[in-house]
Amino acid sequence: TPVCLLVLGMAGSGKTEFVKRLSSYNYQQLKTYTINLDPACKETPYHAHIDIRDTVNYKEVMKKYKLGPNGGIVTALNMFSTKFVDVVSLIEKAGKDYNFCVIDTPGQIEVFTWSASGTIITETLSTSFPTIIVYVMDVVRSTNPTTFMSNMLYACSILYKSQLPFIVVINKIDVQDHLFAMEWMMDFESFQEALEKETTYVSNLSRTMSLTLDEFYRDLKCCGVSAKTGSGIAEFYDQVAKGVLEYEQDYKQQYELLK
Ligand code: GDP
Ligand code: MG
Repeated sequence: TPVCLLVLGMAGSGKTEFVKRLSSYNYQQLKTYTINLDPACKETPYHAHIDIRDTVNYKEVMKKYKLGPNGGIVTALNMFSTKFVDVVSLIEKAGKDYNFCVIDTPGQIEVFTWSASGTIITETLSTSFPTIIVYVMDVVRSTNPTTFMSNMLYACSILYKSQLPFIVVINKIDVQDHLFAMEWMMDFESFQEALEKETTYVSNLSRTMSLTLDEFYRDLKCCGVSAKTGSGIAEFYDQVAKGVLEYEQDYKQQYELLK
């Protein structure tokens, strides 16, 4: 069976670019099957084996139900999720020839993470295949410690909600080195220093939250990549291998019990 990589992240973090990179990356001759779940994208820069736009036209959904763009996207995803069982059988069939199934999600992250359809899709995937959440972060937009912390808290909330193996991908390292972020995650003091530099007054709340995050960072799988140049992708696959083991050990049993 193929390993599913569900790609999430803030708008503009580089999800689509990353999916494109994975779809063309030659890693030990392993082949990648791609799924686009963004109903509002104009065109995918990679070949999508399954594309939500072939099933639902979100502009027509907007017109028909008198919705704005966001409502249209959410409704299109809801409609698509009712057919997700068919998608699972397509992935199962593809499993003969493909090792990975990479899933691109709508630009705005909350469309997926805070919608019933996002939950249905995630659960359907993870009960059928080894599934890993790949959380893409834009390193350039993370240099501010407060922004970095809120992005990490978002990642943390998705981890707890999904209960799945989780990899944080710090993207765009061709523009900005990610070592500062790694240091913040490994060394609590250095993050506190950065916070204090940024604001004269560091509230108890941010202090407490960064302590909570410290716990989250401890077992976190994380790597720096450039979707654009391809650097760091080999290391990403090392993390995927760890995530698959984690799925087999911790998560699979849980689902077997549910069946
Ligand atoms: P999405 O909304 O998360 O799907 O983001 P996109 O994949 O559409 O990327 C948003 C913007 O960031 C685009 O202009 C991309 O060309 C750019 N981008 C994505 N990945 C990289 C990267 O690794 N390096 C650089 N320099 N730009 C990137
Ligand atoms: Mg995109």
